Amino acid sequence: MKKTAKILMASVAVSAAMLISPMVAMAQNIPAAVVTENHAPRTKNVILFLADASGVAALNAASLMAYNEPMKLNIQSWPHLGLSETSPVDNFVSDSANGMSSIVTGVKTRNGVISQGPDVIRGQRDGTPTKTLLEYAEERGLLTGVVSSQSIADATPAANYAHSNDRGKQGEIFMQAFTPRYGDGVDVLLGAGRQRIGGLLTQAGTSFDALASAHNRPVYTSLEDAAANNTRPIVVADRIDVRAATLRALDLLEPSEQGYLLVVEWDAHTDDVRKGLQNIVDFDRLMAEIAGRVNLDETLLIFTSDHSFGVQVDGGKRGQDLMEGYDAWKASGSDADLVRLENVLVNRTHTAEEVPTLAIGRGAEQVRGYFPNTHLFNVIMNSWGWEASQ
Ligand SMILES: [Zn+2]
Repeated sequence: MKKTAKILMASVAVSAAMLISPMVAMAQNIPAAVVTENHAPRTKNVILFLADASGVAALNAASLMAYNEPMKLNIQSWPHLGLSETSPVDNFVSDSANGMSSIVTGVKTRNGVISQGPDVIRGQRDGTPTKTLLEYAEERGLLTGVVSSQSIADATPAANYAHSNDRGKQGEIFMQAFTPRYGDGVDVLLGAGRQRIGGLLTQAGTSFDALASAHNRPVYTSLEDAAANNTRPIVVADRIDVRAATLRALDLLEPSEQGYLLVVEWDAHTDDVRKGLQNIVDFDRLMAEIAGRVNLDETLLIFTSDHSFGVQVDGGKRGQDLMEGYDAWKASGSDADLVRLENVLVNRTHTAEEVPTLAIGRGAEQVRGYFPNTHLFNVIMNSWGWEASQ
């Protein structure tokens, strides 16, 4: 008897509920059809990793810088890959606000706009609010979390839990975390931006303390300060350790019987090329750690970016430091738009070309080919088995 049939019969005999995982199937060469028949259809948990401004060339450069070899990032071995097109409705090049809003609402909009439709006039008139994955998850009783290396009210994290006609309005964006449209709002919110948000709150006649007492939800100044027994912490720090914050968020979200949505942003702008690439390398290690921790049978992990950036490796030799010339550039204090290192050219701006999307876990096979970034909203909704609504 063939191994496949034996395993199938054994699993049926033991219990109808006993499932063969795709990972096991892949390892044992079980045909996909057999796996599907024995499978509960839905993803329970989704983790969306967003490296801000990380295109194909940035991943390549990060691998060359850290490992002196191409394709050494852990995520470069994830089995499913597609190319995500990031433009807003009226331009070719996206900013983070449009980019992230498109991914998490399935509706492309205009640059600078946080999860509102293209009927918006930036900074002047609200557009139709577009319902976010986090709002769908809250509506259905999942636990939700957002972690960011940046201000927790900056465009990428904000697009998950807020709606605004201008990304610059970080004070009112942050306040929306306390007045959700669905469920009880984002459960775990961990990021930076203490000064910026605090200043805007003061201008609006409020403060972190006032919000915290009005809504009976402390706003901590650091991850370390967040009370261990607070299961819905908000941290707005000056700087945040993304790995520690992400692991803390997972500890809090994983007990959810309904499942969870976790969104993690790590900045990867390569204005400062070494810094941006190092962020990608560190993020990659974190993603590998998490992929090893969660149950990929019931969890979908997606890595993508909101838009690309003008960084390219155009020289260099194996065995030599990719960053030759970086220290001299850094010491020069130059703020020129073009940075010419020995082996790396940086055009310090967002660029229009498609960005990589890598996926692993339940539902990951939907990520393939070229697609508009709004497709990622559908991938995640499909994996949960949910229909879009308002
Ligand atoms: Zn961005």
